[in-house]
Amino acid sequence: MAYEAVWMKDPDKLNKFEFYKIEKDGLDIIRDIVEKYAKEGFASIPQEDFNLFKWAGVYQQKPNNGHFMMRIRIPGGVLTSAQARVLADIGRDYGRGLIDVTTRQAIQYHWLEIEHFPDIFDRLASVGMSAVEACGDCPRTIVGNPLVGIDRDELMDTTPIVDQFEQFFLNNRDFSNLPRKYKMSISANIYNNASAEIQCLAFTPASKVIDGKEVVGFHASVGGGLSAKPHLGKQLDMFILPDECLKVAIGVTTLFRDNGFREKRHYARLKYLVADWGVGKFQEELVKLIGEMPPRGDDRVVGWNGSYFDGVHAQKQNGLNYVGLNIPVGRTSSDEFDQLADLADQYGDGTIRTTISQNVLLTGVPDDKVEALLAHPLLQRLTPSPNRFMSRTVSCTGNEFCNLAIVETKERARRVAAYLDEHVAIDTPVRIHFIGCPNGCGQKHVADIGLQGSLIKTPEGMVDAFDIAVGGQLGPEAKFNTVLKGRIKGEEVQVGIAKLVEFYKEQRHDGESFHDF
Ligand code: SF4
Repeated sequence: MAYEAVWMKDPDKLNKFEFYKIEKDGLDIIRDIVEKYAKEGFASIPQEDFNLFKWAGVYQQKPNNGHFMMRIRIPGGVLTSAQARVLADIGRDYGRGLIDVTTRQAIQYHWLEIEHFPDIFDRLASVGMSAVEACGDCPRTIVGNPLVGIDRDELMDTTPIVDQFEQFFLNNRDFSNLPRKYKMSISANIYNNASAEIQCLAFTPASKVIDGKEVVGFHASVGGGLSAKPHLGKQLDMFILPDECLKVAIGVTTLFRDNGFREKRHYARLKYLVADWGVGKFQEELVKLIGEMPPRGDDRVVGWNGSYFDGVHAQKQNGLNYVGLNIPVGRTSSDEFDQLADLADQYGDGTIRTTISQNVLLTGVPDDKVEALLAHPLLQRLTPSPNRFMSRTVSCTGNEFCNLAIVETKERARRVAAYLDEHVAIDTPVRIHFIGCPNGCGQKHVADIGLQGSLIKTPEGMVDAFDIAVGGQLGPEAKFNTVLKGRIKGEEVQVGIAKLVEFYKEQRHDGESFHDF
């Protein structure tokens, strides 16, 4: 270890998992997978090493019969068509053709087997991609503005900063043993399209007059996160120039690494350190590491768009457009990914972008090619004009594959959205998020209607059920949704949500959202 692992001085304050990480750095698992387990097979993997598979972007999936799921990092959500084709091929050859887009702009495979991993890693590396640290107690996929470089509403192109972060943190053994998962975002979009408040560390657009000139830079918030106890990030009193973002990120990550709680895993996220210290003390400690910074400037975030971009929109480059396509509940396929790559080359700039709303964009489409693109058969399913509820329904993986899930979510979410589109007419979008357990991967806390899977006792035994929460929102008036009393049986969700939306429709005042309701 290049740094002093200060937490090891007090082993009584370490949970069991910390001892695995002392014994073997999470990044070492990649070598062991390639050199040993992929050759000797699933049965050769010792139980303690499964704990470290996350650093390879891998979890065991349900059913536990030798299959894995794997996440692939897509920093800032920007993919080339060549990368998309490699992703499609991997999914087709090893993952039964299934590709999910996640709420961190990553993609996720299922059904992989350990023997496939070396070839998958090689294929990813051939197009500059990686699954490494897409999961694990380390800096995960960096979320960014999916419109970066083409966005009429961004203060600057953040591509160089995202690239700089990726190069610095990925595979960096100084930061591969954090107390828990660690999530960063960087976006200069004024509609907060990287959902800053729920990140461990988020950079958001700001400006400040320095020496009589307005300078564009960033504010930073720390300690956001979801799961059973959600926290909104707290803004530091700092104005950060673009070339100082990495310095701030290194400082914040160092504070987390050296001071984050390692005694109980459920209490180990950065949000608990920030809550315990208060943002004032956190900033004082940060300044000791990185030096004084100028105080906050003008916050330039004006709202939150939930990272939804359906339809055709003008880019900042005259004559070019981006087209937001809906992927129903984030589930697509290798064949569709190949077709997206072809469309990106044929009609656009050869780029596909992924969003945290589990959708995709095609970019750089000239005005005179838009019509032909919209007529392509793929856009019948991945449509730029989705039905209202399908367009705003997000779902985590659920018990189809996830070992932690209490209930099924993905197919249920799709069915519920289709039912609502058929039975409920409403003039405003309603964001509905499903999660299969309290971990919050489907970000139910920020939804207009959030559904969290649980169980309920009936005369026939335990059955799937959901807690319902309403009124979540991010941006300047950020708040998590409020859990309603009672639980609804899984089989009654679609009718129950339809009634809830009808009630909202009848009772709301002009312009009143679920957030204000
Ligand atoms: Fe699995 Fe729970 Fe995350 Fe859903 S929220 S993917 S059930 S851990």
